[in-house]
Amino acid sequence: MHERSLLSRPIPSRRPCLTAVLRMAGLRPTRQRVALAELLFSGAHRHVSAEQLLGEADAAKVNVSLATVYNTLHQFRTAGLLREVAIDASRSYFDTDTSDHHHFYLEDEQRVIDIPASGIVIQNLPEPPYGTTITHVDVVVRVRKTQ
Ligand SMILES: [Zn+2]
Repeated sequence: MHERSLLSRPIPSRRPCLTAVLRMAGLRPTRQRVALAELLFSGAHRHVSAEQLLGEADAAKVNVSLATVYNTLHQFRTAGLLREVAIDASRSYFDTDTSDHHHFYLEDEQRVIDIPASGIVIQNLPEPPYGTTITHVDVVVRVRKTQ
């Protein structure tokens, strides 16, 4: 290998790693899934709506529809790669941190931020219905700017 080929070698991509993550989650690593996974998981943990992710995909010249973004986010959630934080019937955020924790919803900014699991104590949970087990408890504390 001569010097020129060393210098022109591309910067290592996270793609092979994300492809493996998708396969392990039981998802076929299609080009669109890998591209969306790259956008979602290439930085610090965060909360993103389908519309925000579509905007990021457009900016990164990833050609996907909002329907594909929705489907992919729900597939990632079902596969355990994301957690859904449902604010109301028409608004959901997808959290790249799937560990147990809670959220503040900042109504003025329409933004979700984390509350550590230890920040809220949940007591006296009712017995779950017969034949069911509690998987987790999500708390969303809704706040708005003080007038
Ligand atoms: Zn979170």
